Amino acid sequence: MDAAMPVPGGLFGLSEEQAAIRQMARDFAAAEITPYAMEWDQAHHFAADVVRRAAGLGMCGIYVREDAGGSGLSRLDGVVIMEELARGCPSTSAYISINNMVAGMIDRFGDARQRAEMLPRLCSGEWLGSYCLTEPGSGSDAAALRTSARLDGDGYVLNGTKQFISGAGATQLYIVMARTGEGKRAEGVTAFIVERGTRGFIIEREIPMLGGQRTYELVFEDCVVSQTQVLGEVGRGYAPMQLRLNVRRLQMGARCIGIARRALDMMCEHVKQRSTFGVKLADRQAIQWWIADAATRIHACRLMVQAAARTLDSGGDVRLEASMIKVFATEMATEVVDQAMQSFGAMGMTKETPLQLFAQQVRLMRIYEGPTEVHRMSIARQVLKGSK
Ligand SMILES: Cc1cc2nc3c(=O)[nH]c(=O)nc-3n(C[C@H](O)[C@H](O)[C@H](O)COP(=O)(O)OP(=O)(O)OC[C@H]3O[C@@H](n4cnc5c(N)ncnc54)[C@H](O)[C@@H]3O)c2cc1C
Repeated sequence: MDAAMPVPGGLFGLSEEQAAIRQMARDFAAAEITPYAMEWDQAHHFAADVVRRAAGLGMCGIYVREDAGGSGLSRLDGVVIMEELARGCPSTSAYISINNMVAGMIDRFGDARQRAEMLPRLCSGEWLGSYCLTEPGSGSDAAALRTSARLDGDGYVLNGTKQFISGAGATQLYIVMARTGEGKRAEGVTAFIVERGTRGFIIEREIPMLGGQRTYELVFEDCVVSQTQVLGEVGRGYAPMQLRLNVRRLQMGARCIGIARRALDMMCEHVKQRSTFGVKLADRQAIQWWIADAATRIHACRLMVQAAARTLDSGGDVRLEASMIKVFATEMATEVVDQAMQSFGAMGMTKETPLQLFAQQVRLMRIYEGPTEVHRMSIARQVLKGSK
C-alpha cells in the first residue's frame, strides 16, 4: 500500500476515469522519470525528451480544448496528474506545469490563428513554452515590470530584460509580458507571443539555480514583433496571467503533495529497516509522530487542492484558496522532506538519495510564483475585507 495514501472513500472522490488518469501518470513517472531524476540533476540535464513523451500522453495540453490538439481535461484531472509526476521529479513536473500554463493561456486568450498554429505544437511537445514575467527590478511586485513594447507601424518594438525564466534555454515559444501603455502597474501590460530566433531576442545567460531547475536571463533589444503576436487584449494582459498563475498554484500544491508523499514513503521504508540502540526507528514515538503528522498534513493538503480544483472546474473564484494552498503546501512539504532527511541521518544529506533534491525544490517553491509572505499578505487582506 502507498504509505501516504490513507484515501478515505476509496478513490478519494475521483471517478473511475480519473483513477485511470492517475494510474497513467503514475506509471509514466515510475518508468520514465523516477529512475533518472537524480542522474539528470547531477548532469545538469533538462529532460526535454521526457517532457515530449509526457506530451505524447496528453500531459502538456491538459486543459487545452481537443479541437486544438489538447486533452480537454478538467483542473481536477490536472492536479491528479501533477501530483504523480512530481513524485518522480519535482523539476521535470515544474516544466510540464509551465508548458500547460503557456498552452492554456493561448487556448483561452489566443485568436483562431494563434490557437490553430501554436497549440498543436505545444500540446504534442514539438514546441515547449516559457512564461516571462519576472525582471531584475520586479519579482513579487510583478506589476512594476518595465519591459516596454512600443507601437511602431504594424508591429511592436520590445526592449527590456526578463530574469529567472524556467526552461528558456530549451523552449521555442515565450509569453512575454510588456508595458504597451502609460497606465500604472497592471494597467497597460500586454502579453506577447515571441518565438525563439526572433531578431533582438537574446538568451543572455543561464542563472545557476538550486534543485535541478534551469533558469535564464532573457534580453529584448529592439525586438520587433507583429501585432498578430499580441495575446488577448492590448493593455489587458496582466489579469489573465494572474488567473493562470492561480491554476499553477493549485498545480504547485499538487506537486508538493507528490514530493511529500515520496519523502514519507522513503521515511517509512527506512525506519522499518534501521535500528539504533537495539530498537527499530519505526518503534520510536518521536518518529511515529512525524509519520502521523506527515500523513495527516498530506491528506489535508490534498483535500485543499482537490476542492479548489473542483471550484475552478465549476467556474468559481479561487484567489483566496490559491494563496492558502501556496503557503500550506510549500511549508507542509518543506517540513515532511526535512523530517525524512533527519530520519535518514547522514545518508539523508548525501546525493545518494533524492531527498536533497526534494529539499532544494520545495525551498524554491516557497519563492517562485510569489513568495509565501506575499501570499500571506493576500490571504490576510481578503480575510480582513470579508470580515464583519
Ligand atoms: C526556480 C525559479 C523559477 C522561476 N521561474 C520563473 C519563470 O519561469 N517565469 C517568471 O516570470 N519568473 C520565474 N521565477 C521568478 C519568481 O517568480 C520570482 O523570483 C518571485 O516572484 C519573487 O520575486 P523576487 O525573486 O524578485 O523576490 P523579491 O520580490 O525581491 O522578494 C524578496 C523577498 O522579500 C520578501 N517580500 C517581498 N514582498 C513582500 C511583502 N509584500 N511582504 C513581506 N515580505 C515580502 C519575501 O520574503 C521575498 O522572498 C522563478 C524563480 C525561481 C526561484
